[in-house]
Amino acid sequence: TPITLLRELITLIGGIGLMVAMNWRLSLLILVVVPPIVVAGAFFGRRLQRLSIDVQDHLADSTVSLEEMLSGIRIVKSFTREPWERARFARAVDQSLVAALRRARLQAVFIPTVNLLGSGAVTLLIWYGGRLVIRGALTPGDLIAFLVLMVMVAQPLGDMAGQYGRLRQGLGSAHRVFRLLDVATEPLDVPGALLPGRLRGSVRFAGVSFAYDGLNPILHDVSLDVAPGEVVALVGPSGAGKSTLVNLIPRFHDATRGVVEIDGEDARRLDLRDLREQIGLVPQETFLFGGTVRENIAYGRPRASDEEIRAAARDANADAFVRDLPEGYDTVVGEKGVRLSAGQRQRIAIARVLLKDPRLLILDEATSSLDTVAERQVQEALERVMAGRTTFVIAHRLTTVLRADRILVLEGGRIVEEGTHAALLARGGLYRRLWSLQFREADDAAATEPVPGSPVERP
Ligand code: ADP
Repeated sequence: TPITLLRELITLIGGIGLMVAMNWRLSLLILVVVPPIVVAGAFFGRRLQRLSIDVQDHLADSTVSLEEMLSGIRIVKSFTREPWERARFARAVDQSLVAALRRARLQAVFIPTVNLLGSGAVTLLIWYGGRLVIRGALTPGDLIAFLVLMVMVAQPLGDMAGQYGRLRQGLGSAHRVFRLLDVATEPLDVPGALLPGRLRGSVRFAGVSFAYDGLNPILHDVSLDVAPGEVVALVGPSGAGKSTLVNLIPRFHDATRGVVEIDGEDARRLDLRDLREQIGLVPQETFLFGGTVRENIAYGRPRASDEEIRAAARDANADAFVRDLPEGYDTVVGEKGVRLSAGQRQRIAIARVLLKDPRLLILDEATSSLDTVAERQVQEALERVMAGRTTFVIAHRLTTVLRADRILVLEGGRIVEEGTHAALLARGGLYRRLWSLQFREADDAAATEPVPGSPVERP
């Protein structure tokens, strides 16, 4: 820190001053011997600092990559990009390792060199000082004082050796991280798993219960039958189990009891990669990876052509604003790039799913309201992506429940009501209460005035 550096500087200057005052000849000797040490220290020190920054940068890169991967883990899984993410992280870690090794090598040269020069200087001082004492030109007390001062002057240099200890600590932590990385992940390809081919898209839950901890069920005996192309809206108070239910479809979890069937097959028998490749996921909080717009859209199909990417972006109402970005499709977004509005991010997420052309769609509508223009653009895009696909949507918008073929009302992990909007309203149950609270007021407000502070489109 600057304070310790200041203290070391004062010690250095004060020590030298005292020595000169005591005996200039001995001081002269020290002034001949010390500069090489200082020069060596400065030279290696600067390089060491540069290498340390290098290590820090690479570590930061790998942390960013890890953080993105973890916060977007459902996206990673649903696009079956685990191998790619793993490689990306491995690359970042490798780079930090290479930088750390370079630093360690330099330190291995630096520290012994400085130590050797230091001991050499002390030896020289004792030898010459001893002769002066014998000749009576110096008192033994002064020689001792000189030695003490010399050690004090050497102290600041010795501190640099402390860095080595810190590096050892860092390598120790890295070891723990590697142990964590060795923990097995779920296998994507299981030998003997069914390859369903292109799905038709029917989904059946038969007496499905699910408990995260194996003890306290979050879903209780859920049964439902969804035909290919049907749009099912899930509504219900928060914590009712809507996300848990849809997460069983791409098998982020498996049912504790009962069966989830897709195209009439137990989902557990289907090849996980094949299944997830046919399920599109648009989460509530749109997740963009650090990288270009193009890479983000092509996330599920890295080899997609520019034409295909453009077409998906057009269908997602994203092409126009993307082309207005500083570098169009090559604009970097995410942590280190251009910040996009919530509506823009959602449309990129929709383009990403469109490009994948899934048979099944899982949408988690954002609760935060967009302004009316952005809202309409997102809705249009969603409508296009839903066409002809079996869709489960966790609904927060009136337009969505109106358009759904069927609405499931969940409460406490059970389907308590089921039907169309009109039929459920007529029933006068939970749905009616939710509708008047959640949908009508929110959408009326959104329709008449933009919500203050809501994200505004930045073209
Ligand atoms: P909803 O989507 O309807 O708001 P969720 O499916 O997210 O409801 O949550 C249902 C219940 O399951 C909540 O009580 C929640 O605390 C619990 N839950 C959700 N995810 C997990 C998890 N990963 N581990 C343990 N409990 C969870």
